[in-house]
Amino acid sequence: MLLGALEAGGTKFVCALGDENGKIIDRVTIPTDEPEVTMEIVKDYFKRKHIAALGVASFGPVDLHKSSTTYGYITSTPKPGWANFPLVKTLEEAIKVPVGFDTDVNGSLLGEVTYGSAKGLKDVVYITIGTGIGGGILVNGKVLHGVIHSEMGHMLLKPREDDKFEGVCPFHGNCFEGMASGPAIEKRWGRKAEELSDKKEVWELESYYIAQALANLTMILSPRKIILGGGVMKQEQLFPMIREKVVKNLNGYIQSNLLEVPEKYIVPAGLKGDQGIIGCLELAKNAL
Ligand code: ADP
Ligand code: ZN
Repeated sequence: MLLGALEAGGTKFVCALGDENGKIIDRVTIPTDEPEVTMEIVKDYFKRKHIAALGVASFGPVDLHKSSTTYGYITSTPKPGWANFPLVKTLEEAIKVPVGFDTDVNGSLLGEVTYGSAKGLKDVVYITIGTGIGGGILVNGKVLHGVIHSEMGHMLLKPREDDKFEGVCPFHGNCFEGMASGPAIEKRWGRKAEELSDKKEVWELESYYIAQALANLTMILSPRKIILGGGVMKQEQLFPMIREKVVKNLNGYIQSNLLEVPEKYIVPAGLKGDQGIIGCLELAKNAL
């Protein structure tokens, strides 16, 4: 069965074809321009491909409520042209197949729990640390949506005592995203995160914030695994630093053999960058 997958990101859109077993057959990447430009290319890609369904995982915030008049819309983004954009409707009308829809991080979460690092697990958190910080939550095998969808990237954290940085989040200043996203690292240290690999103090502080967020999530959700993806997590030295600090933060309060082997609890994405697009294939399958 041929399925379509669309990963709609703030910087790039990935269009792909694949099958119901998560196999990608073809893909193209286009930069995110204004909707009139980008969507024409997307529609063109999927037309006449005879896909059975399309799965879309999008940057947001998005409206995920099937009964809402703005279901499938990108809602309040500052990205020019994309606020209140009817993404699902535009695709349904053009391609005329069932469209499955979720947030970008929930797409990645689905990919990882179906084929990746958390295959078969029912309680999982997926977090991406990149231009922004976002996360998806699987509870009892179902993606949690709630009123809107998780915005765990904006949880408030306690600043490290010596850290006077005001943060980059336009809404909250020093929330998780405001303190630990790629742009936060760049503003704080004056250079892009990828150019700071050898600066130990950068990753020491970065892991302080990530570990605090992960300890909170551990306390609240009691997941079986936490998967970390996104550009910033390409700094692999972060993983052991984060694990050590999470264990320290929990301070023996949570008794689980999971935490005795933190390498199995806090892990990188198993699909190595393909988790989003493979998750879209799952969304397409689910739409049928
Ligand atoms: P996006 O979040 O836009 O989808 P990414 O997940 O690649 O894309 O995140 C981009 C952010 O990650 C940028 O702020 C960039 O500086 C940072 N980044 C990209 N590659 C690396 C790297 N190797 N090490 C550290 N930071 C990186
Ligand atoms: Zn915020």
